[in-house]
Amino acid sequence: MLKGSTKILTLGMKLADIPGQEGVKALLRQGLESGQIPHAQLFAGPPGSGKLPLALAYAQWLMCHQPGELDSCGECASCRKVDKLIHPDLHWVFPVVTRPGESEKPGSEQWMREFRQAFTQNPHLE
Ligand SMILES: [Zn+2]
Repeated sequence: MLKGSTKILTLGMKLADIPGQEGVKALLRQGLESGQIPHAQLFAGPPGSGKLPLALAYAQWLMCHQPGELDSCGECASCRKVDKLIHPDLHWVFPVVTRPGESEKPGSEQWMREFRQAFTQNPHLE
């Protein structure tokens, strides 16, 4: 690793990697097959239900350059960018706090390095 560079860990997150939630996966696949995908979707559920990893795996499938019938390829440039949480069309919004000494209102993008690190260590973030 080069000095000063930031190592980006990867998750390898495909729908098939998410345990359970087969009913939700079936609904997501129906939407993709029908070509009618809502512009926004809320993934909600109890802690440990896998809602965040499932949402990311679904986003990866939607943006995959070589999607399969049931999942993303996991290997194309788009999948690799989603896997590293660096895809330019994948936007994250989460609550943040102002760092000590900062006077401007912070945004989620200012915490992406910490978010990526936390997410790669525990994709459930719980
Ligand atoms: Zn792909």
